[in-house]
Amino acid sequence: MSNSTTKVQGCYINGEWTVPDPSRLIEVKNPANGNVIAVVPRGDQEDVNLAVNAAKEAFRSKEWKALEPQQRGRLLFKAAEIIRENKEELAKIETLDVGKPLKQSEVDVEVAARYFDFYAGIADKIMGETIPVQEGIINYTVREPIGIVGHVIPWNYPLQIGARSIAVSLATGNAAVLKPAEDTPLSILKLVELLEPLGFPKGIINVVTGYGHEAGAALSGHPDINHITFTGSVETGKRVMESAAQNIVPVTLELGGKSPNIVFDDCNVENTLDWVLRSIVQNSGQTCSAGSRLVIQETIKDSFVKQLAEAMEKLTIGAGIDNPDLGPVLSKKQFEHIQRFLTLAKEDRIPVATGGNWVTVDGCEEGYFLQPTILNDVPPEHLLAQEEIFGPVLTVSTFRTEEEAVQIANGTPYGLVAGVWTEDVGRAHRVANQLECGQVFINHYGAGGGVAQPFGGHKKSGFGREKGLEAIQNYTQLKNVALRYSF
Ligand code: NAD
Repeated sequence: MSNSTTKVQGCYINGEWTVPDPSRLIEVKNPANGNVIAVVPRGDQEDVNLAVNAAKEAFRSKEWKALEPQQRGRLLFKAAEIIRENKEELAKIETLDVGKPLKQSEVDVEVAARYFDFYAGIADKIMGETIPVQEGIINYTVREPIGIVGHVIPWNYPLQIGARSIAVSLATGNAAVLKPAEDTPLSILKLVELLEPLGFPKGIINVVTGYGHEAGAALSGHPDINHITFTGSVETGKRVMESAAQNIVPVTLELGGKSPNIVFDDCNVENTLDWVLRSIVQNSGQTCSAGSRLVIQETIKDSFVKQLAEAMEKLTIGAGIDNPDLGPVLSKKQFEHIQRFLTLAKEDRIPVATGGNWVTVDGCEEGYFLQPTILNDVPPEHLLAQEEIFGPVLTVSTFRTEEEAVQIANGTPYGLVAGVWTEDVGRAHRVANQLECGQVFINHYGAGGGVAQPFGGHKKSGFGREKGLEAIQNYTQLKNVALRYSF
């Protein structure tokens, strides 16, 4: 429960912190023990209007336009520095808010800083081209900022995902309105507090906290927004896209996945085991790119699953702040979501190779802690192998041939990431070539945050790319100019 010492935070609009209306607050809880760690405003249409108007004015202001690209870049380099200087505090906030182990939050902070470094470096390298058309005309293109960007941020990696879109958005000269998830707004609020002294013009960065159906919907449907970047569920993604359609506004949708690790019998087993394990337990499986399906060659399945189960059983579970291997899942809602799949597994007599039970952690009786779980011999078309469970639950399906491996890997509505595990380079490329997904990792998984690598989905995993140089396309628009110099 909240008490008089609970931190009360406002929204950040036009360079100022709002004073929250006490009758419209959202409690932010620590997933480990259910304690209220802060309260934030339940932002609504009016707050979003204020934030968007502030962003609009700031975007058009002389102050922002006068800031040269290299000066914007320098501000972003400073932002990276300040994030690193405050690593400990940011990581602690993320862990208390999201529940993840502290060591994972520390990685998130470093990745957030790297986004600022990466995009700081491109601020003065966004160029157009000249196009030969006809004698007497010079034709060139200019890549301009798109304007006001709405960032709708999910609860699983708020700092990382927030940083990846804010950094590129600012580097390319836009103004931002952020709507963090109602469950986990704290690291984004801290981030903008840290950025405040750097001197971005007032209104260039704004944050409205609140529920998705209120503040989120108000932001994605706002007629003055010029681009929306959204990460979250498919259902919400559809709603965001519908709102954007009303305003003819482009969207980037990153909608999760059911990503396979495709393991061939000629893989390096030790390396593969390590990464398959990490890719499903990180953040208790609440990762859009989690390796949530093991698609493995029949010949090695039994011994591989046995070793994987043994490794899982050695993992520690507890409050994120105590730095275990696995923290709690986010909330009762997520617990219920995952439990529905575990019940289904039981009803359909799917063998459990390890885990499957919720455990009680001393002093954290209100938290939901799930043992890392392997559901064995899951038919590839079964719901368990098709839908995002968003917990530390791995399904195992087998294949006999390379062709069948590809078919199973591609056989879900999603297409975000895939891992391919083989020592045969030819096979690795053949398989990578046929996979319907946005990112393929061969003999590793994740590339340490992958700041420089374009990231996004095929099929229902969404479209558009965040990260890397590719993201610049979403945050800019192209103007063609043709000048006649000879009459
Ligand atoms: P969600 O899609 O409801 O929420 C994501 C963000 O969208 C939050 O900031 C939320 O407030 C906002 N939102 C919700 N409704 C909105 C609306 N109508 N208009 C605009 N914004 C809105 O996701 P969730 O309920 O937090 O999680 C549900 C499932 O989504 C999870 O179980 C998981 O499968 C998936 N998910 C995926 C990712 C990912 O990284 N791709 C992240 C979080 C959740």
